[in-house]
Amino acid sequence: MKLQSSGQTVGVVGGGQLGRMLGEAAAPLGIELVVSDPTPDAPAAPVVREQIVGEFDDEGTLRELCDRADVLTFEIELADPDALTRVAKETGVPVHPHPETLRTIQDKLVQKRRLREAGVPVPAFRAVDSVGALYGALDELGYPAMLKAREGGYDGRGNVPIETRADVEEAFEAIDGPAMAEEFVEFERELAVMGCLGKGQTDIFPVTETIHEAEILRETVSPARTSEAVRKRVRSVANDVLGVMSGRGTYGIELFETTDGGILLNEIAPRPHNSGHWTIEGCHTSQFEQHLRAVTGLPLGSTTRRAPTAIKNILGDGPERSEATLAGVESTLARNRASLHWYGKQEVYKLRKMGHVTTVGTTEQTPGSVLEDARTATESLSFRS
Ligand code: ADP
Repeated sequence: MKLQSSGQTVGVVGGGQLGRMLGEAAAPLGIELVVSDPTPDAPAAPVVREQIVGEFDDEGTLRELCDRADVLTFEIELADPDALTRVAKETGVPVHPHPETLRTIQDKLVQKRRLREAGVPVPAFRAVDSVGALYGALDELGYPAMLKAREGGYDGRGNVPIETRADVEEAFEAIDGPAMAEEFVEFERELAVMGCLGKGQTDIFPVTETIHEAEILRETVSPARTSEAVRKRVRSVANDVLGVMSGRGTYGIELFETTDGGILLNEIAPRPHNSGHWTIEGCHTSQFEQHLRAVTGLPLGSTTRRAPTAIKNILGDGPERSEATLAGVESTLARNRASLHWYGKQEVYKLRKMGHVTTVGTTEQTPGSVLEDARTATESLSFRS
């Protein structure tokens, strides 16, 4: 294998924060990125060779990406599997992960069915397409439960918890489309693991604990504060999940650890994921570098953890959309072993992911105290317009 300048070019559908962090990981490998995103000056734009402004499912835009790229990938589930398949066939540019895997994952019901068939443990669920069907499903699943839109949900949008029978109709109306009902999992904690399919290689990152509030990921800490037996079970489930995926790349795998130490799969993302951001500083190879190595067919890197590592997301606050100005940054930057990642979004609104702060501990530090460091490192940050 030889390196040349310029090296391989990866076309990425989506130019959000994941595209930006892919861009940051690409340069040391001699890889160039071209991204497509409908928003001009998307977060990835400053760190990639070029942004093509166009919708995620626009075939003209995809063709433009393929004109420049040796391989195509996506950092957003809104990419269109049909358009990707057609353009890949027409241009001969391969797409990783495989568009069929994207299609399976896009629909939470299809995804869960496929995983259950493969023997992956998942919460009990039912397809629901009417209020009557939802009542019937909940008679079987019991209350409380979670109603999920089959497609298009993210960061908890598209999920409606149902506490009692009295909530059913309102919940169904709120989803307003094809849905699935799922048993409410009484979990001890939530876990995530990034898995990667490379060229003839498989790799699984260290297991991470994820902390959500109101269904949005707020913090992660690795190692997860759980037993080695649970970590082992997670790795084994992750292996089974990767067996169902086709095409190379990094996959985010989110799981529940139940109160009896069991594992249930929550969902998969066919791309780098917020629960793997800690790997930038925390592992010898980050999820972003690993994704690029995988899709370009380079050997995968070592994903051993350097030290206990935590992150805290910087989420938008305030009721209005406003120009994004983050204040209090000096005190975060002045902290030992804290790294700031600002995604460069122009506008802030409530709960929008605007950045994150990572803290890497010493090898002697407990995960809990590294998480405390991350909390302290973000205390000074606030948005003002
Ligand atoms: P999204 O696709 O929006 O990220 P998820 O389906 O992953 O949505 O759910 C987001 C969060 O909601 C989960 O991390 C978890 O905290 C909670 N959640 C989702 N499904 C369930 C469930 N069946 N039981 C309990 N909590 C759940």
